[in-house]
Order: sequence, then C-alpha cells, then structure tokens
Amino acid sequence: MTVALELYRSVPKYLAARAIGPRLPGMIAGPVASLRLVTREDPETPAGGWARLAPRLSGICGSDLTTISGQSSFYFTALVSMPFVPGHEVVADLLDHVDGLKAGQRVIIDPVLSCAARGVEPPCEPCAAGMHGLCERVTGGHVSAGLQTGYCADTGGGWGARMVAHREQLHPVPEDMDDQTAIMVEPMACALHAVRRAKVPGDATVLVVGAGTVGLLTLIALKAETEAGQIICVAKHARQAELARRFGATDVVSPSDAVGAVRRTTRAFRLHPERSSPFLLGGVDVAFECVGSKDSLDLALRATRAQGRVVLSGMPARADLTPAWFRELEVVGAYSGAGAFTDAMELARSAELGALVGATYPLDRWREAIDHALSAGKLGTTKVAFDPREN
Ligand SMILES: [Zn+2]
Ligand SMILES: [Zn+2]
Repeated sequence: MTVALELYRSVPKYLAARAIGPRLPGMIAGPVASLRLVTREDPETPAGGWARLAPRLSGICGSDLTTISGQSSFYFTALVSMPFVPGHEVVADLLDHVDGLKAGQRVIIDPVLSCAARGVEPPCEPCAAGMHGLCERVTGGHVSAGLQTGYCADTGGGWGARMVAHREQLHPVPEDMDDQTAIMVEPMACALHAVRRAKVPGDATVLVVGAGTVGLLTLIALKAETEAGQIICVAKHARQAELARRFGATDVVSPSDAVGAVRRTTRAFRLHPERSSPFLLGGVDVAFECVGSKDSLDLALRATRAQGRVVLSGMPARADLTPAWFRELEVVGAYSGAGAFTDAMELARSAELGALVGATYPLDRWREAIDHALSAGKLGTTKVAFDPREN
C-alpha cells in the first residue's frame, strides 16, 4: 500500500468545477476538486514485459488541469477508466529487471498505452505502421481503457508512489541528466511532434499562441527543426515574454496586441466584426495554439492566412470555426510525443529545460501544487511538479 493522488468520478463536483471553470482556481483546488490523496493497493504488473516503477518527479500538464477543472470534453470519458492516478510526465526508478533494463535504472515513460503495452495481437494499423501514438486499441488488452498512463485505472501514474509501465514505454535516462530535465522530455517530444505535423515551409511566418510550457517548447522545436522566418509569440506575463525571446521568438506580444502585430508583420488587412474579436485577411503561414483556451484558438484561427495551417497543440476548446471554412484553413491535430523521444532527450539537455521546473511539491500539499500550476504564468513559473517519494 502506498499513497497516490486519485481522480475519482463525482458528478456533482464535476459539474461544479465545470461551471466555475478556471476563473476561480482556489475553488478548483479546493472544495470542488474530484482529486483526493489516498492510500491504495500498489498497481500490479498485468503481463510479461511490464515492470514496477517508483516515480521520483512528475509534472503537472495543462491537460491534467483541464481534466481536474472539469473543462475537458465528454469525448474523453470513453477513453479513460476511473478512478485513475494522473501523471504522464514522469521520471522514475525502475524496480524490476525488464528486457535489457536493470532494476535501479532511472527511466522516463512514453505514456501512450498502445497495442504493444496492451498485448493486442495483431497490432492495429497505426501501431503496425510505427505510429503508436495513433493506436486504435486504447481501450482493450491487458489493462483497462486509458489513452495514456495517467488516465488508466490499472497502471497508476506519476502522482503516486508506485506505478507500472510496459517495456515499450520506457526510455532510460542518461546518468548525467537530472530529474528536472528528465520530466521535460515528454512535453518536449509533444512539441517536436507538433512542429513536424505543421510542415513549416522555409521562411514561413509563424505564430505561437501561448508561452507556457507548450508554447516555449514549441519555440525550441521550431528553431531546432525548421527554417521558419519570423516567429511571433503571444505571451501574457513578463517572465514568459523573457523566456520566449530566449528560446527564439523574433517578436513577443501581449494577447491584446497579437492581431495588430501579425497584421503589421504580414501586411494583412484587419476587419472588426460585431460582438467578437477582430480577424485578418492575410496573416501568418502557420499558427500553433499552445494554451488550450477558446480565446487562444480563436486568435490562431483569425490570424492565419488563407490555406494556412493551424496546429492544435493544446487540448482544443470550443472556438468559432468560421475562419477555417472561409479561409480554407488546414486544422492539424498534434496529440502525443510518440516517436520523438530520442530527439527530445537531446533537446531537453541542450536547452537546459530542467531550469523550467520552478517548484516541486510532496503529494500531501497537492492543493497548493494545483493552485500554483493554475496560476503558474502569473507567478513566473513554467512547470510545477510533484515529488511523490515517501520519506
Ligand atoms: Zn501532457
Ligand atoms: Zn495499436
């Protein structure tokens, strides 16, 4: 038996959280949270090829906050099993020998629970083609439904003292890489994957909406893998703006100045519709939505040129799709970091991403941790993480 934070099903709390929304973070981490600290049975390895892990650090991702605050789509209810222990950005000590990895080795996990982990034979088409991030069997096989570790009732997650993972999910951490840097590899892999999905043309003008973890890592990936020209980053807070410049944004603007800045850079034409925000005819070639909010997605859609590309890097929120129709935009999803972990490991090291982990909390201070994560930008913090080790 060990301690873990558990997300459980509570319809009244879910509806309350959804109604209050992210406007009152104190309430989300307080009385309406359907998260609780529990002592639970340690998860057991469900089949061969699985191993037990003791998490050392586990990040709080924007998608975790969306889930806790009841803002995520009902679409997800069919892709998770309750109650589950969140935490998919994980560095852990391996407790069992498994296929070439020794107990005691530090590992990070690729959280996707695909055919290989689930023992599904033959694998689905995307898995067979090497794209396990798009697995079509995320509800079957050896473990319960769960698109990823951190959403599955059987595996445990990084916000607990024990979890299990399949060998296919494990990546050994180099000895000279610290734990803080290691938990940034998964979000870095997601950003790399998003940038690859964007197929950014040479000298393209790019808009990155948001300068939290996802936005900043997107900037790093753009600099590492594309020949983008101007990169305009929308940052809400001073510390975010400073980091955005350091990581390669050529222009950093506030949300209210963003449309104007894109208009000037691309010589687009600005229109002011009734009862909604302005939009451009013309605009950037590619926009990345890196916040997961309606306003950010609306901005990305309204500031992208005809037949340009809008990449959904954050969990998408309800936005007005009229520009996608009228401007014939390509809206591109980017969901996991599957396939990008090796390159992400190198980038996390060279960009010294461990420095972005601004605070760590023990599990029993989870309300403070969630509060901090919900207000991270305002407080000048990029990544907040749990240290789930029992002392
Ligand atoms: Zn995540
Ligand atoms: Zn599959």
